[in-house]
Parts: sequence; structure tokens; C-alpha cells
Amino acid sequence: MQTAICTDKQLVVLPSDASAEVDDEPPNSGHCADDEPPSGACIAAVSPAFPDTVSGRILRLPASRVNLSSPAVRAFRKRHYPVVTARQWNDWQWQVNNRIRTLAKLESMVTLSEAERLAFTRANNLLPLGITPYYMSLIAPDDPQQPLRRTVIPVVDEMVCSPGEADDPLGEDAQSPVPGMVHRYPDRVLLLLTDFCSTYCRYCTRSRVVGHGRITPNRNRLERAFTYIENTPAIRDVLLSGGDPLMLGEEKLAWILARLRAIPHVEIIRIGTKVPAVLPQRITSRLVRLLRRFHPLWMSLHFTHPDECTTEAFRACALLADAGIPLGSQTVLLQGVNDRVETMRDLMHQLLKMRVRPYYLYQCDPITGSAHFRTPVAKGLEIIRGLRGFTSGYGVPTYVVDAPGGGGKIPLMPEYMVGREPQALVLRNYENGIFRYPEVVPEAVG
Ligand code: SF4
Repeated sequence: MQTAICTDKQLVVLPSDASAEVDDEPPNSGHCADDEPPSGACIAAVSPAFPDTVSGRILRLPASRVNLSSPAVRAFRKRHYPVVTARQWNDWQWQVNNRIRTLAKLESMVTLSEAERLAFTRANNLLPLGITPYYMSLIAPDDPQQPLRRTVIPVVDEMVCSPGEADDPLGEDAQSPVPGMVHRYPDRVLLLLTDFCSTYCRYCTRSRVVGHGRITPNRNRLERAFTYIENTPAIRDVLLSGGDPLMLGEEKLAWILARLRAIPHVEIIRIGTKVPAVLPQRITSRLVRLLRRFHPLWMSLHFTHPDECTTEAFRACALLADAGIPLGSQTVLLQGVNDRVETMRDLMHQLLKMRVRPYYLYQCDPITGSAHFRTPVAKGLEIIRGLRGFTSGYGVPTYVVDAPGGGGKIPLMPEYMVGREPQALVLRNYENGIFRYPEVVPEAVG
């Protein structure tokens, strides 16, 4: 039994016995605005290029000194937040505190379709609504099929559980030695720092936990996780995720990163985040000064569609890249959002320009209520085939299915090896040309 509460302040859907499930506050609401002047030490000698979306010129300025806004974003701010200053708008805490979380607020900005409106009247919608004003500015107010809109505004299809779907399809809960930690592969662990995100993706693999306030950066829980890592020398790689780890304030992040760095066998730390796409204001010079103290530190950035690659996102990625943080992307293949070769190629090209190396293209996990997002696997293979050879190798991500039940990521590739002859492999290239490679026959060697 669940209860939908809708006021002009917020809409939340609660199981009848769980008031603690309200997506309420960011885990660290201390002031973290970046109001310090940029440090020369964190700016690369050669500045990155930013597309000025107004003049079309390429600007070369230190990333931390570029304060451009896309025209669409500026127009949205003027229309819906006329008294909000640019300084407030560019303050990530302001963005977080002013997220769109209620039906009333949403309706003041977009014309909802029947399928969207119905989602708010059904009681079993577990994932809260949350959209930063910035991301809202990228959403088409009158087109329910617009790709970005489909990723963050719920539709009634979320309430339908189709065969094969589950709340925890990857079996993470069964591979969790400590609450909020998943140890699936031998040499690395996933550590969830918080279940809070500034913007909730409707296809989130962890929609069973995110936004409910159950996973917090609580010191006791994290100490248990650190102790587990300390006692497991095989762990050389720790991936911090959530929720979004960058929703934590600098002090908490510094403590966590320092704690991990003090463990001798932890070689690399990775952070998974969607912040550059949904809340680029969070990437401040203060934050990158902090992060660069903990190298080798890598980041996996969640991007879904080329429309997310705005001036603001360019600036955020440039700050991170200038701090020496290797950036990779993670993209979920979504029906009607990015399931065309042209769209995916455009996204990969934009990412490369932002110095983000396309890393994974994920087949959408079969979470409960995801059928309207999932494509056949053949679609993912078609997209990889449309990228490989047609664009730089750096622009081709690895397409993976995360095996239901906890089997881990399994890479899938179009078939390029089409036959085997006694002395040769028969291969097909990207243009469907057939070639023979003279295979080394083991018994003929030596
Ligand atoms: S940002 Fe990541 S964790 Fe947060 S809702 Fe989106 S997919 Fe889930």
C-alpha cells in the first residue's frame, strides 16, 4: 500500500510505512559555492576551446574563467526565474535547492501528455521526480517525445512490470558484503556514497534505492566499507558511485578520498557521476583542486544524448580534464532517445571534443518498468557497426550487457570474423568487404 502526496511544494510517493523514503535534502547542504578566484595551478597552460554558441567562434579561455550560458538556457532563466541572478543560477547549491520536484512546478513549465500526467496519479512510482532548473531548460515544453524529456519526466509505462524485469536485476544486493558496497569482480569494488542525485533518470538501474534517503555518507557505514577494503588486499580499484558522489560537499569528499588513498593496495579511485550533464555548475575550480590531490583518479561521466553537450557541459569537462582527470563516458542505450546511429555518432563526437573518451554503451538493464526504454540487442550491435570504421576508434565505446543475476558486464560485438579456413581467417570489414588474414598454424611454427 502506498500513498501519493501532492502539494504545491512537492510530490512524493510513499509506501504507507516509510516516511523515511522521501527524497528530501542533499546529503551535504553546507555552502559549497565556488566563489574563490581560480587558481593558476589548476588551469592548463594551453586553454581548452569552447564553442561560443552565439557567435560560433571558438573561444580559448581558462575553463574556470568562462562563464557562458547557452542561449536556450538564458531564455529559460529569464522566462521562469526572472529575478534569479546569473550568480545564483551558476551556484550548484541554488540549482539543487530549486530542483523541480512537484507536479505543480512541472506543469508550470511543460505541457504534460496524458501518459506523463497519469504517472503522477499512480501510487507505485518508486523513483522520485527531481530535475535541476538547468536541465529543465534543455527540455522541450511541448514535445513529450523529446529525448531528454523522456529520460527525466515519468510516464505511466514505468508502472508496468514486464516479464524478466526486476527491482534488482543485477543481483547487487546479493553481492554486498557491507551495506552500500558491491563486490562482484575480484580486484575492484563499487561503493555507493549516497542515494541522492540532483536529477533522477527514469531508467536508473538503482531506482530501487536512489532518492529514498536510505544510503547516506554516514561515517559508521563508510568506516565498515573502508575496513572491508583494508582487509581485502586484492582490491586495487574503488569505484565511487551512488546516487551521485559529487552531491557531497568538499569536506566529506576529501575525507573519503583521503581515507581510500591511505590504503596502500588501492591503486586507482574512480568516480561515476552525471553531474557534468545535469548540474555542470557543480564542477568548480574548488572541486577540481580537491580532486586532483588524489590522483590517480578517473571519472566516468554519464551522458545520454548530444543535446546534453552544452556550453556549460563543455566547460565542466574542460575543468576536469585540465586537472588531469582521465574522463570516460557511460551511455545507456534507450529506445526513442539515442537508438539511432546518427544520434549516437553525434554524441560520441561531442564527447571526444569535450575530451571524454567513450567508454561503455550499456544495454538498458531490465529494471521494473523499463520496457518502454529497452531496445533489442540487435539495435546496439547495429549502432556499434555504424560507428566502427566510420569514425575514430576513440569514438567507439564497448557495448555491454550487464548480465542479470550478477554475472557482470559481457561485451557484445558485431560479427567481424565470418569464417575460418585451413590457413586463414575470413574477416569482414566495416564496408562489408571480405578479407583473409594468413593465420599462424601452431604445428607449422618451429
Ligand atoms: S544519475 Fe545515475 S544514479 Fe542518479 S538517477 Fe541517473 S542513473 Fe541513477
